[in-house]
Amino acid sequence: MTIDISSRAGLARAITRVESKRSDHQAEARALLAEAMPRTGAAQRIGITGVPGVGKSTFIDAFGMMLLEQGYRVAVLAVDPTSRRSGGSILGDKTRMARLSADERAFIRPSPAGETLGGVSRKTRETMLLTEAAGYDVVLVETVGVGQSETVVADMVDFFLVLMLPNAGDELQGIKKGVLEVADLIAVNKADIDDKAAKRAARAYETALHILEPADPDWSPPVHTISGHTGAGLPELWEAIGAHRRKTEASGSRAKRRAGQQVRWLDSLIEEGLARGFAQHPEIAARLRQVRNAVADGRTPASSAADELLALFFGHPNS
Ligand code: GDP
Repeated sequence: MTIDISSRAGLARAITRVESKRSDHQAEARALLAEAMPRTGAAQRIGITGVPGVGKSTFIDAFGMMLLEQGYRVAVLAVDPTSRRSGGSILGDKTRMARLSADERAFIRPSPAGETLGGVSRKTRETMLLTEAAGYDVVLVETVGVGQSETVVADMVDFFLVLMLPNAGDELQGIKKGVLEVADLIAVNKADIDDKAAKRAARAYETALHILEPADPDWSPPVHTISGHTGAGLPELWEAIGAHRRKTEASGSRAKRRAGQQVRWLDSLIEEGLARGFAQHPEIAARLRQVRNAVADGRTPASSAADELLALFFGHPNS
């Protein structure tokens, strides 16, 4: 029997199928996704990142509530590569988004536990598709600034929002260049504490952004000052996201971005499947350690060792 995702409980159950490792659940998840596909794609997909303490949960709570009040249906998904260390999740430790999680109109789903970043991101993508098919029209995908998680999330959304703290001088030193490259908007948060400092920080980020070539020729990422706490700047932020949508839909770059994301996702699923098949291949498993040692000792060149193992994997002698 297929699961009806039109209720929150049904959607939650369907996502549990997506997250499950059981093969019957996986088959069910594939069927659910295939059924959902035609009803996906209309949502506004927004990625949100920032260091722990920048105010992500406070912001999402306020921003999500604002959107609910405007009549949007909001889903929040989290990508937290730290969650595999049991109980050590950065995004899951505290009571987060108190108003949003108590609101019937919103749907909140934390990161699946016990997964690698690749696993989390695959499940988050599929979860995103299910929430869209269930009628959620704004999907917020939150991640901490750990490892590659920002670029992974930026590659599954239409708009990538980077939250920053107002101490620009220090921040600019430590900021990961890759994050600026994928930002569609930088929001300097906690502007309520010191508006002048926040504006100063915003100017510093604008300068930093100007040095970079914009990823999309239709869009120069702006810098806003906001407060998740007071809600200041949140309507303007939503307006900017709308302007980005209108521009990129008109130029076709939004469709192109999504198409590129789909193809890169396909490629990474293939790579993942091949790597898994390789690691599980019985003859290779038996041979790999010896070959690794031989390469480490300099007895065998890496290239011929790789050729030998790949020939084993593909089941034919390498010419
Ligand atoms: P997260 O770790 O990024 O999710 O950050 P939180 O939303 O948990 O916020 C971290 C701390 O900063 C909490 O004590 C919040 O109350 C505080 N905070 C978050 N947003 C704001 C804001 O806009 N202004 C002020 N003054 N404090 C904030």
